[in-house]
Amino acid sequence: MNINQNYLKLQDSYLFSVIAKKVNDYREANPDKNVIRMGIGDVTLPLVPAVTEAMQKAVSEMGNAETFRGYGDEQGYGFLRQAICEYYAAKGVSLQQDEVFVSDGAKSDLGNILDIFATENSVLIPDPVYPVYVDTNIMAGRSISYMDGNEQNGFLPMPDSGTRADIIYLCSPNNPTGAVYNRKQLQAWVHYALENEAVILFDCAYEIFVADKALPTSIYQIDGAEKCAIEFCSFSKTAGFTGTRCGYTTVPHALVRGGTALNKLWLRRQTTKFNGVPYVVQRAAQAVLTDEGLQQIKTSIDYYLQNTKIIADTLTSLGIWFCGGVNAPYIWLKCPKNMSSWEFFDFLLETAGIVGTPGAGFGRNGEGFFRLTGFGNRGNTEEAMGRFAKINMPL
Ligand code: PLP
Repeated sequence: MNINQNYLKLQDSYLFSVIAKKVNDYREANPDKNVIRMGIGDVTLPLVPAVTEAMQKAVSEMGNAETFRGYGDEQGYGFLRQAICEYYAAKGVSLQQDEVFVSDGAKSDLGNILDIFATENSVLIPDPVYPVYVDTNIMAGRSISYMDGNEQNGFLPMPDSGTRADIIYLCSPNNPTGAVYNRKQLQAWVHYALENEAVILFDCAYEIFVADKALPTSIYQIDGAEKCAIEFCSFSKTAGFTGTRCGYTTVPHALVRGGTALNKLWLRRQTTKFNGVPYVVQRAAQAVLTDEGLQQIKTSIDYYLQNTKIIADTLTSLGIWFCGGVNAPYIWLKCPKNMSSWEFFDFLLETAGIVGTPGAGFGRNGEGFFRLTGFGNRGNTEEAMGRFAKINMPL
């Protein structure tokens, strides 16, 4: 018996455990101080009424012999796939129901999609980024190259003459930087992928936060993307489904490599290894995409974006460089005085009782940067930024 040795190559992630320990130590030493968490990567507002009502109705159906449902289609019920197609149609993207696959969230699909690609493929991953892309490829034994996000390119790396990759990850709006690719930039990536027969894995889990109508919220808004991209999206951040669990992945029929449609491979993979999302959850997700649901979640999204605006305004007034925020729940700031990410973490906790996330936890290029989020409550965000503005910042 041999284990998968690739697992031994994974780096332990100490990020959130170290943060928790530092915060606990600080609380013990300063029991009277109110610590404000500005590093939250999870939603805090509850499910909206349209969603809970749909869930309650679905629960009743499940308890009734006439309306009870057992196994559903692995790829999701037609009613939800249809609702997702209509959501895309409103963005000007035409999809067929069988190009959309419903799942228990984007994280699972981002990891599972690797089943359909050969291990020899070269992978290109932005740095900094959501760490799941890196770890899932290490587990699969694939060699990874990184593309640098930095202040110069606004944390939106672009292909150049040296770029060489079969599989390319793009995350827009980006976690942790909040940066969003514009149409021209995405067009350049699509062009690269088509020229080189690469496949783009496009993660738009935060698309609902894009407020600027000129920015793309789906890669399929770009010409030719249906021939080179798989898109991952989720109800987690869109509608507070982080604990409810539902996402969707789109694999267009036009995406063909080596004479095989990737849609066919993904269908085979899902019908073999996955048994579908609970009926009650799919009804909840369908309710998100109704006019009423979309209106209700907009209130939550606007609330988070107003929080990020409060953070952004404070940083602007202090002359601190940052990106993100306007079209994303994340603000990515440059640590003042060339402090390292962890030095700034300690400094902010000690001087203001504010907890954020050190950028170094998201990749090599995250060093010297720091993530704050709009997922907290309004009062805490205002209080935190009031404290932040009063710090004698060593700029
Ligand atoms: N993609 C990105 C960029 C994320 O930041 C996250 C979660 O934080 C996910 C995907 C995971 O989403 P889900 O809850 O649908 O698994």
